[in-house]
Amino acid sequence: MRKPELLIPAGNLEKLRTALLYGADAVYVGAEGLSLRASSSEMSLADLAAGVKEAHAKDVKVYAAANTFARNSDLDKAKIIIPELAATGIDALIVSEPGMLRLMRNSAPHLPVHLSTQANTTNIESVKFWKDQGVQRIILARELNLKEIGEIAAAVPDMELEIFVHGAMCMAYSGRCYLSAFRNRRSANEGDCSQPCRWEYALHESTRPYDPLILQEDERYSYLLSSKDLCLIEYLPEVLASGVTSLKIEGRMKSAYYVAVVTRAYRQALDDLIKQKEKYQCRQEWIDELGTTSNRGYTTGFAFAEEKINETNPGIKYVQTHEPAGIVLRYDPVKKRMLIGIRNHIVAGSRLELLLPDKTVSIDTRILRNEDGQSLTEANNDQRIYLPVEKEVPVGAILRQKAK
Ligand code: SF4
Repeated sequence: MRKPELLIPAGNLEKLRTALLYGADAVYVGAEGLSLRASSSEMSLADLAAGVKEAHAKDVKVYAAANTFARNSDLDKAKIIIPELAATGIDALIVSEPGMLRLMRNSAPHLPVHLSTQANTTNIESVKFWKDQGVQRIILARELNLKEIGEIAAAVPDMELEIFVHGAMCMAYSGRCYLSAFRNRRSANEGDCSQPCRWEYALHESTRPYDPLILQEDERYSYLLSSKDLCLIEYLPEVLASGVTSLKIEGRMKSAYYVAVVTRAYRQALDDLIKQKEKYQCRQEWIDELGTTSNRGYTTGFAFAEEKINETNPGIKYVQTHEPAGIVLRYDPVKKRMLIGIRNHIVAGSRLELLLPDKTVSIDTRILRNEDGQSLTEANNDQRIYLPVEKEVPVGAILRQKAK
């Protein structure tokens, strides 16, 4: 069985390191000023160069998204940034439209090009077209099912195909949507969606603006526009059988905790599948782990869909059973303790779990000590504290606690 690539979002250098620790084969990042995500999830060139170096040392690839729909006023900036991006050592640039592709061909001709899912590639002829233009990989439209994907892989076997297997879905076609720009001037088409499709809505009769009719389903609000999140971990044999090269996780704007949990679950599942082949069975613990991160209930999306629609779940807003508590900054082998950067509020005696790449361990939190050795009853975001742990733990490992 061919080993697929597990491709993880890395919104910043810390998340890139998290992805490396928990088993990514490749990461994708936002290129400063050129990606289709807001600036908070774009990396500076300096961070990108550092991240590429660390990733390549572990044989992990780095792809940079320059998938903005460039306007004329963006082109001069793109002409400058593309060679600078290539100089960081990235393994490919992700573009969405022919203008950026042409610029890339001129200014960084040796850099492989991946075509973004925003280009809505949905059929064999489109894939052949982009192949003729020198594209090495197509990130297929999310709206395809596995049968259609398999047909494309069979018809164009030398094209690398990438699909999303996990993460948030849009009700709009591949995110081409103005709802966010319309509601609060944050355009999804410029990577800044505020997800108003997930807000609660009420109906106002025009002469009674202060007397809204609440749209209810089963005693709750109706979330008419909001999709469940995609999760294909139970169907990895079917996904690999379709012939895809790369399995992509959505979420460059999500937390390091999300990156850790999702990377680890899919890493373990894929390794197990490669080893067990037809004896592979998805473990309940992987599904449970994915439920610890923020989600809106899971769906298989379009993977097996006859009708091309997303699923919504009126009964669920966001759910998550756990939240991040901190990150390991250093391990002291003499005193057998780890220095933690707190990313939340924790109290002495509470139940903390440390996520290691291969297992989860409970941590003794009866005594929290600051760097001066003082005992604390609680610690807040950005504080640094010591916690005991018997065996060496890797820098960057994530701690979590039950969601409050
Ligand atoms: S508002 Fe919802 S449907 Fe529209 S782009 Fe944002 S997430 Fe997608």
